[in-house]
Amino acid sequence: MRDKMVDLRSDTVTRPAVGMRRAMAEADVDDDVLGKDPTVDRLERRVAELLGKEAALFFPSGTQANQAAVILHTRPGSEAVCEAESHVFHYEFADAAWLAGVQLHPVVSDRGSLTARDVAAAIRPGDRHHPTTTLLCVENTHNMHGGSVVPLPAMRAIQELARERSLPVHLDGARLWNAAAAAGVSLEEFSSCADTITVCLSKGLGCPIGSLLAGPSDLMAEAWSVRKRLGGGMRQVGIIAAAGLWALDHNLDRLDEDHERARRLALGSDSLDGLRAEVPDTNIVMIHLEREDLDEETMASELEARGVLVLPAGPGRLRAVTHLDVDDGGVDRCLEVLSGLLA
Ligand SMILES: *Cc1c(COP(=O)(O)O)cnc(C)c1O
Repeated sequence: MRDKMVDLRSDTVTRPAVGMRRAMAEADVDDDVLGKDPTVDRLERRVAELLGKEAALFFPSGTQANQAAVILHTRPGSEAVCEAESHVFHYEFADAAWLAGVQLHPVVSDRGSLTARDVAAAIRPGDRHHPTTTLLCVENTHNMHGGSVVPLPAMRAIQELARERSLPVHLDGARLWNAAAAAGVSLEEFSSCADTITVCLSKGLGCPIGSLLAGPSDLMAEAWSVRKRLGGGMRQVGIIAAAGLWALDHNLDRLDEDHERARRLALGSDSLDGLRAEVPDTNIVMIHLEREDLDEETMASELEARGVLVLPAGPGRLRAVTHLDVDDGGVDRCLEVLSGLLA
């Protein structure tokens, strides 16, 4: 059934390609808790190099990688500054509080790009009355701001501020691949603006599972124990790391295709009476319902009944994400169904 659907719910819905499955089946493996799995080792080295960091560590999820970073950079009873619509704030089950004992201090931004000025205002003065700020978090691309790219100068400004205040920066780069492709900026340039970076293989790169945390080798050595403590020690995990290596070879250079389809989907939606959509920087289209008689839950189920899956994203808004398993025909189909529903 799902095979016949145009599935725009997320770029996490992709099914591993035949070649990826073969690479997984043939992966050279060993116990990665007892020692080192050779395929994981290759993936970690490769991602560290791509990001220009000393080391990287393979995690089962982006959430766990982000939370390991929060634990590593902070101490209980302190505060981390983050963007108000960020994943770390909304979609990680208050893990910063639960696991790290850290309070998050959300800062509102335009399109997910925090300004140094607003972040500076959120950093605590270090007096007797306030908690201590121990970390700055940024997200790029920004998911809930419609896959927006935080431009390199904005990232540099935050890094500059962090240096002045001797604070570490963690970059939630779940979709940093998309940011780099869209901005024509290298992964390394973006990640040079942060001390640690989370990247996800399970989004646009089409892997079934997997994220990495990259940073300085001493910190990544500590991250190993934090991961173990969080239940993220995995044994013959080269089976899934092999998917990551395959994805870097085959799926990294094609992200512009997803961006182009998202652009067409946004322009097409925007041209329909009752809908508004901005052309996204990358692969996430936010479709605003502008007519009184339209609501996101009803629209999503009407679309589903006609073979198109999207997710409601707050009042009067739908989220549609392009990815490996959505072709030009899928975008056409979505626009056709939207047009029929609105007629
Ligand atoms: C998907 C995502 C994550 C990590 O999600 P997991 O489902 O835990 O892998 C982190 N940050 C952002 C911005 C994401 O979109």
